[in-house]
Amino acid sequence: MSKGNIGVTSDNIFPVIKKFLYSDHEIFLRELISNAVDATQKLKTLSSVGEAKGDLGDLRVRVSIDKDKKTLTVSDHGIGMTAEEVDKYINQIAFSGAEEFLNQYKDKAEAIIGHFGLGFYSAFMVSKKVEIFSQSYKEDAKAVHWSCEGTPEYTMEDTIKAERGTDIVLHIDDEFPQYLENATIEGLLRKYCKFLPVEIAFGKKKEWKDGKEVELDEENIINDINPAWTRKPSELKDEDYDKFYHELYPMQMDEPLFHIHLNVDYPFHLTGILYFPKIKSNLDVHRNKIQLYCNQVYVTDEVENIVPEYLTLLHGVIDSPDIPLNVSRSYLQSDNNVKKISGYITKKVADKLAELYKADKDEFAKKWDDNKMFIQFGMLTDEKFYEKATGFALYKNLDGQYATLDEYMDKVRENQVDKDGNMIILYTNDPDAHYTFIERAKAKGYDVLLQDGELDVHCMSQAEQKHEKLRFVRVDSDTIENLIKKEDAAKDEYTDEQKEGLRKAFEALLPTDADKLKYNVTCEAAAADALPVFLTQNEFMRRMKEMAAHQQGMSFYGQMPDSYNLVLNTSHPLIQELVGKETAEEVQEEVEKDGKKETVVKTAYKLEGEDERMKQLIDIALLASGQLKGEALAKFVNRSVEML
Ligand code: ADP
Repeated sequence: MSKGNIGVTSDNIFPVIKKFLYSDHEIFLRELISNAVDATQKLKTLSSVGEAKGDLGDLRVRVSIDKDKKTLTVSDHGIGMTAEEVDKYINQIAFSGAEEFLNQYKDKAEAIIGHFGLGFYSAFMVSKKVEIFSQSYKEDAKAVHWSCEGTPEYTMEDTIKAERGTDIVLHIDDEFPQYLENATIEGLLRKYCKFLPVEIAFGKKKEWKDGKEVELDEENIINDINPAWTRKPSELKDEDYDKFYHELYPMQMDEPLFHIHLNVDYPFHLTGILYFPKIKSNLDVHRNKIQLYCNQVYVTDEVENIVPEYLTLLHGVIDSPDIPLNVSRSYLQSDNNVKKISGYITKKVADKLAELYKADKDEFAKKWDDNKMFIQFGMLTDEKFYEKATGFALYKNLDGQYATLDEYMDKVRENQVDKDGNMIILYTNDPDAHYTFIERAKAKGYDVLLQDGELDVHCMSQAEQKHEKLRFVRVDSDTIENLIKKEDAAKDEYTDEQKEGLRKAFEALLPTDADKLKYNVTCEAAAADALPVFLTQNEFMRRMKEMAAHQQGMSFYGQMPDSYNLVLNTSHPLIQELVGKETAEEVQEEVEKDGKKETVVKTAYKLEGEDERMKQLIDIALLASGQLKGEALAKFVNRSVEML
């Protein structure tokens, strides 16, 4: 038996391991099983080149718990280690400049572990003692027993071990009783080892029989050793991709919309499958995250720093040995491979969507509503993606027809360009509420888009920035004649004074709630068959308020009252009857000024004997915009009955 000191020049590696990795101590299991799998894979390679002789036999990796001895054991039948190898790989964690490095990265134990293969030593995070029993595949090699109690001292001696391979025995620290629980270990194995390339067995398979759980003879295999992403796309059918999706996310009921099989060899290695889920609302987001693997070993599902944010809406797996394991988040972001990977995935996703759109526009359109949030989010946050996505981002009109913006602009170019050369695209977010406006637009031969998605307003603003003479206007934001001005606006024959009086008279009858609601009365010579009085809402103000609801730093707009234009249609006979009938009267009004009451003289406009009719006209305008509710609606109904 020999004793020695573990060759880290700084003798405080164990405290570092224990302390700094505390938050993530469960990864010890992943590290040990990865080593076991590596040792097994190495043996297979050696055998295939004739270096390891004979039948390899059972190659399963087994994990077992002994509750009495308080041990957790990971056993493999891989290449094993000779005493010299244990000395070299386990004892000498000495690397050049170790001390310097440790000092530099004191706070980043994760980086140490990832960089210098301290994987095995993570066992000490949860153990008071760790033993290795190993029998090398090499002929004439003696088995070795190594033992260490979490100090830099270890013992090493010859032993007898019947089978080739390595057992790592962890004497679990009393602080961590959970690692002696079957359920905890099975959970961790399912999390980290679900797709490892060598079978991992943990206990026996169980089955429910007559209301009882009974153990079967068969071993409980944790993993699928050939997950879909490691296979050739040509071997897989759509059903296989769907099946794998449910393997990844057992709780997910919906089928994904599309998938992309990633496969790169140069300048980095990456495989994986990404799925486009149906995204119905913000709430769905981030439930099933993309999982990151390194050679089929689960690393994390926190991929925020590896793929652009909008891609985190996708589901699936990415597997790359070139993404550094176990390093801190900030380190990941600055890693060159990671940057390239992110760019590659963006391109690949965009290309695939473009290809799908080209191959079958109708099919793509059918899935658009479920997919659009993802694509719009990408366009809004990633310029490169935007450029590609203009080729397949769709707009839907009220007839349910879909088109890209370019296709749509071609369609409306003839009819919807105003006298100043601006292309005006009309839209609604609520076809029921805007019914009369939509009808008027259609009567003119205009097309109306349905834009009721959460990101639609932002996307329209973005499209306007990219196209100089393009405007999106909601169909209720002005009279249709004003929305798309064809020649100089129609004029009426009334004087400004006449109209002013009419305006003022209507204004006096409007409901007021100055903080929340503001009406601005205007006179317009709209079409004779339009409503006599109607409401419009300025596109810019409304859009700013809508965006303020989602965005910080725009609260200024959010606090503004809702403001509407009440348009008096001077082309309509009912309004024409009222023009010039107003009387102006001087009235005295008490106002408070600097804390003192003062009486001022004001001019009040009235239309003698027309109050009821004017109220009716205002209410009709409110009703047509869905704004007449409660008491006001009841009054309107009663007044209508009386008038009849
Ligand atoms: P890494 O796996 O990153 O190299 P580790 O500290 O986990 O770092 O392991 C150090 C070395 O010990 C491995 O590279 C391998 O040579 C050897 N080793 C660890 N576990 C086993 C095992 N189960 N079977 C054979 N060799 C092993």
